[in-house]
Formats: sequence, structure tokens, C-alpha cells
Amino acid sequence: MRYFNNKQKDLAGKIDHDSVWRNWKDWRWQKKHAISNIRDFERLTDIRFADKEKIALNQTVQKFPISITPYYLSLIDFKDYQNDPIFLQCFPTPSELIMQTCEMKDPLAEEKDSPAPQITHRYPDRVLFHVSNVCAMYCRHCTRKRKVGDEDYIPEKMTLKQGIDYIKKTPQVRDVLLSGGDPFMLGDAYLDWILTELEKIPHLEIIRIGTRIPVVLPFRVTDSLIEMLKSHRPVWVNTQFNHPREMTESAKLALSKMADAGIPLGNQAVLLAGVNDCPRIMKRLMHKLVQNRVRPYYLYQCDLSEGLSHFRTPVGKGIEIIESLIGHTSGFAVPTYVIDAPGGGGKIPVMPNYLISWSTNKVVLRNFEGVITTYKEPDAYQPIFCDRNCEECTLQLKLDEAEETVATGIARLLSDADEAVTLVPKDLDRFERRNRHPAGEAE
Ligand SMILES: *Cc1c(COP(=O)(O)O)cnc(C)c1O
Repeated sequence: MRYFNNKQKDLAGKIDHDSVWRNWKDWRWQKKHAISNIRDFERLTDIRFADKEKIALNQTVQKFPISITPYYLSLIDFKDYQNDPIFLQCFPTPSELIMQTCEMKDPLAEEKDSPAPQITHRYPDRVLFHVSNVCAMYCRHCTRKRKVGDEDYIPEKMTLKQGIDYIKKTPQVRDVLLSGGDPFMLGDAYLDWILTELEKIPHLEIIRIGTRIPVVLPFRVTDSLIEMLKSHRPVWVNTQFNHPREMTESAKLALSKMADAGIPLGNQAVLLAGVNDCPRIMKRLMHKLVQNRVRPYYLYQCDLSEGLSHFRTPVGKGIEIIESLIGHTSGFAVPTYVIDAPGGGGKIPVMPNYLISWSTNKVVLRNFEGVITTYKEPDAYQPIFCDRNCEECTLQLKLDEAEETVATGIARLLSDADEAVTLVPKDLDRFERRNRHPAGEAE
């Protein structure tokens, strides 16, 4: 079979003498034999560390443990591993123990914005639901690094029920994002139960799953998982490829199974110093994604979580990468570059500037080639006074129910009917929720 090679065969034998070669493709075997210490890593790869290095590595592992699937390990170039993007994403470095004052355990305030167990409710209409505390691999750049090394566990039905109940009684939630840990580390039947329960909620329109499984353990995407997912619609899946070398034949197969099942696929890459902070690597990655029917969704600036300082780039690197993509390649191969605001402000998109100047009837723009151009605005535009009374408007929204009746956020400053001139962000809904539901407490 094309997606096996001798290196993998050799590794399988070293890991598990009794291993029938076929086990390589068994996701439970992969999980069971995940590499969890430096000693095994050395034995399997023939890479050797000096004693001093080993002491520092073992200290690091005590704080931030290792877990590398044999499959992901096999993607490392053992002969030239030091700058290997696969190695850097899965193998610890003592730099993780360097703490900076700007770093936080929970920079995104996911725990503060938690109105019910396993739920983070930050945005008006969607919630994050942490359904698993297990990952196939521990990414060194994990934003939830504070939790890596906590005991691996799958929350019990009773716990998840409280999250489901919160969504049930919160009618503005139309989108739930299953995250973790990795939701695909749950067994098919358990995931099926969660999806079934969620589907019973009438106001829930879509379900999303955030997973790194296609990258680190593609064999988890079994035919039976696909069959189960197919019976729930619409489910969207977002994965996290960070480097073109992660797009192996096995990964492609996992993606094509999902795409063939009609599951829309997206990718959320993380900008990582030494791994993918290069416009050429990024363009290659984006092209490989769209070739495999995955739409690049976000490119994340690396969060201010503890132990990630060696992975962080200046924001300018992200802008440079986006500059190299927009106009230079297919529009849908360009992700939105975002900074997830510390303190729970959510994702903030950052772009190169294309609007250079403007007057009352003209804007000056530049394109990707550096051509400076103008767009003449209409002289005769009649603005429609908007008081959000959609029933009497000449524009025909004509929906059964008016969805948003008042404007919020910056949209409120732009509205005609609202007299607000400044925004004083003290009555934000998400702060309200924090008061109503102190972190982690269910009603
Ligand atoms: C990222 C995120 C979401 C989803 O955001 P989208 O921009 O809709 O993808 C929802 N809730 C939380 C807490 C998040 O961090």
C-alpha cells in the first residue's frame, strides 16, 4: 500500500515485537504506543542527546509531558531532525520552561467565560464545548498547555449533560464547536450520543468539530466513524495542518473520506517560529489543503500561553505571509490571519492595508502588485435611514422573524438610530454572563 514505508515498518517492530504489521493502521494501537518519554524516543529514532541535554529535557517533560503517536514520529527526518517541523511540534525543548511576564495560564480566559462545565461562551451566537480531555498527541504549541498533563479523561455523560442543558436553555446559541482535547478521541458511540443530544435542540443550526486527528492520527478516521458522522448533518470539521510535510498519503485518505461524506472541511493553522514562519512554506501548505478539499480558515498568531515564547513571531510575519498570498493565489486559499485577544476578547482579524486614502467621493487603493488605483464613489447614493424596523423598509428582508433587532458592538456606532457616540465596554453580554454564571458553576 502506498502509504506505508519501510521506516514505519521498522518502527512498528521496535515498538511492539508482537505487533502484526497491520496494527500500524489501528488507531487504538497508535494511541496505546504513543511515545511518552525521552528514553523511548532515543531508542526508536537512534537520535542521542548528551547527558546535560537529557536532564533539561526530563525537567521539561515533568511540567509539560510528551505524547507522540508512532505515525507522527515516523514523519520526522531522523537524520536531520533539529530543524524538522514535525520534530519541533512534538518534541519538548527546555525553552518551554522560560516564563515571560506577558504569558498566562489561560490567556483566552476560557475558564472565566465558562457558564457551565466544559462550556466557553464568548460570542453572541456560538459556544465552545470541551467534550474530551484526551489528545492523540501533545502539540508543544498547545494553547491549552496548562491542561496538558492533567489526567487524560473523557468527561462523563452527567458532566456533558450540564453543558448540553446550558445550550438547551440558551436560545441564542445556533452553533456549537466541539473541542477538547480532541473530540475524535472519543469512541464512535459516545460521540454519536453527544451529536444526537445536540441535534434535539431546535435552535442549534450547526455543529463543528475541531480536531488534529487527520494530522497526528489519520487512521482514527475509520469507515465506521464516517458512517456515524454521515447520519448527523450539518457537521463541519476544522483540522490543524501547520506544515506541508504533514500532508501525507494517510492524511489525504482521511480527508478524502470526510470530504466524500459531504463534510465541509476547514483548516486552522498556527503561525510557529521555526516551523512555518515563511511565505513559501505557507503558500505550499495552503495549496496542499485546497487540493485535498480543505478550505484554509484561520491562521492564528501564537497565543500568550505559558511556555510558548520560542514559538512566537512578530505580528509583522503574519501580515507578510498574508501579503504574499492575497492576489498571488486563489482567493479561497487565503486564510484569515487572527490574533485571539488576551482576556477573552475573541479573535481579531489582522490584514495588510489596501485602503491608502480617501475623500468624500473617492477612495485610493493599492493592489497586490503595488499598483495604486482609485474607486469613484457614487454621487447620487440615497442612504436609507435605518431604525432597524425591517418590516417597513424598502429593502425586503422578509424573514419570518427579525433576527437582530438592536445593533451591538462597533455596528452600533455605525447605526443611524442609535445615539451612542462612544462604546464603554462594561455592559458586554459576556461580562453579564460571567456574573450570572461564575466559572464552571452550573445552575
Ligand atoms: C474560536 C472560538 C469560537 C468560534 O469562532 P469563529 O470565529 O466563529 O470560528 C467560539 N468560541 C470560542 C470561545 C472561540 O475561541
